[in-house]
Amino acid sequence: MGVTVSSSLTLGEGSTPLVPARRLQERLGLELYLKCEGLNPTGSFKDRGMVVAVERAARAGARAVVCASTGNTAASAAAYAARAGLEAIVLTPAGATATAKRAQARAAGARLLEVRGSFDDALRLSRELGEREGFVLVNSVNPDRIEGQKSVAGEILAQLGRVPDVVALPFGGGGNVSAVAAGFADAGASPRIVVGQAAERATTWASAIRIGEPAHAAHVAELVAAGRVEVVTLSEAELRSAWQRLSLEEGVFCEPASAAGVAVLERLSDVQGTTAVCIVTGHGLKDAGAVDEGGSDAVEATLDAVLAAIG
Ligand SMILES: *Cc1c(COP(=O)(O)O)cnc(C)c1O
Repeated sequence: MGVTVSSSLTLGEGSTPLVPARRLQERLGLELYLKCEGLNPTGSFKDRGMVVAVERAARAGARAVVCASTGNTAASAAAYAARAGLEAIVLTPAGATATAKRAQARAAGARLLEVRGSFDDALRLSRELGEREGFVLVNSVNPDRIEGQKSVAGEILAQLGRVPDVVALPFGGGGNVSAVAAGFADAGASPRIVVGQAAERATTWASAIRIGEPAHAAHVAELVAAGRVEVVTLSEAELRSAWQRLSLEEGVFCEPASAAGVAVLERLSDVQGTTAVCIVTGHGLKDAGAVDEGGSDAVEATLDAVLAAIG
């Protein structure tokens, strides 16, 4: 099952589980599976493409890989750069990335620079730096990233044993939308691809899709015009509710942006009776701060106190 990545840098990316969403599917009136991409080595789907991009950068004799990141690209680039013996230079929007993601990048020795600006500013600077001798840009505008990320489509087909009617995923910069559409096309499959973007793009609580100007906007617009992709715009409340349900009803703890696919299915009124796959893009531990701290109580160390507390 899955696509074997024949890279010397591999950390075991891909071959993530496809799990039936038993309770969610009942409420939504469809057959639903969750492709749990948070189980990739650094906790998000970014690893599928990053292993390819960093390998090619190393072969090309690069000194450093460069990226702009809302966090997960940074964590992934840092890990593979460490394995390749390359520097990783990461530009993040100041004060707008989750602590755990920055920790992952720092642990792997990346040079982290918090840009006083938005993600879009960080991407512009990364593109400029990537033009310099010895630096390779590893954002998803690098086609090697898209090439690697396509593998999720073949895995879904192999694991399900058929073509799903619907595939749902988040739309941030649009790199993954492009990769998923290309992956299914390569496999000769054409599921309905529905993608969720935040209405409040530049400020959404779902930090992994907090991107004002999607780098792949033009390509996604072409896919929409060709009838291959549908874009649904989600409120903050819809994102939050889908994210909570994934944990509360399925035990799948993902980061906020990763629930966008589920939010899309909750919104659409014409998916009942279909077989759907949601690509759940990143792990919940990436952004543990998103969880309300209110749920735990301190008790005396006696059974009576425990019984009283649980009611
Ligand atoms: C990067 C990322 C996204 C958005 O992917 P794009 O390719 O930018 O559209 C969604 N969820 C998570 C967890 C991510 O890391």
